[in-house]
Amino acid sequence: MPILLLSDIHANLEALDAVLADAGDFEHIWCLGDVVGYGADPNRCIARLQEFDITSVAGNHDWGALGKLDTGDFNSTAQQALSWTRGQLTEENRAWLAALPERIKVNPGSFTLVHASPRSPIWEYVVSAKVAQENFSFFDTLFCLLGHSHIPLVFRFDPSSGAVTSEQWTGGGTVTLGLNRIILNPGSVGQPRDGDRRASYGLVDMDKYSIEVRRVAYDIREAQAKIIRAGLPPRLAERLSYGQ
Ligand code: ZN
Repeated sequence: MPILLLSDIHANLEALDAVLADAGDFEHIWCLGDVVGYGADPNRCIARLQEFDITSVAGNHDWGALGKLDTGDFNSTAQQALSWTRGQLTEENRAWLAALPERIKVNPGSFTLVHASPRSPIWEYVVSAKVAQENFSFFDTLFCLLGHSHIPLVFRFDPSSGAVTSEQWTGGGTVTLGLNRIILNPGSVGQPRDGDRRASYGLVDMDKYSIEVRRVAYDIREAQAKIIRAGLPPRLAERLSYGQ
């Protein structure tokens, strides 16, 4: 059975439930952080994840909601969402988020999981081949899985030349794993930013030794209505329509 790879759920329960329904059977969840922030269902999203066997790292919004990061480092829309989220989180869920590590190795050391980058696990965006290339020396597993940019991306390291190539996977794709090192971002479940409004996620298949990135439509209107009802910034609802 595959492992379900989730990132940047951002308290979007409709997107998370659509992904869980689309994924079929899986044995475990690997989550790359930003479970909360922006969306209207932080507690319900954490509760849903806790129904499964899950390994997760922390994201910048998880830390922002806990007060572990200065929210002055976020833009004003994100700050408003983080202070709202802080007021919503239950004690138990605060404790669950607070226990998430910044990085973790899984599946006997083949994969490093971080939210942002191996060099700077909470903040750095890996969106160019240049930044990816610099980051290959900051993890010692074959593969690194990360989120943060909300864009599905695959960076491949060519050991003969040292060059790194980048591919954006809007619409999805499958990479066969081999001996060459890869950094992969499965895109965002709850707030895609690559122009495709569908939820993005991954399936890691250790039998086929591959990772598939998939997209699935979800009830955007319901997620938007909850954001408006909660009094969160309307921009956070609007952007879900465009996947930006
Ligand atoms: Zn995020």
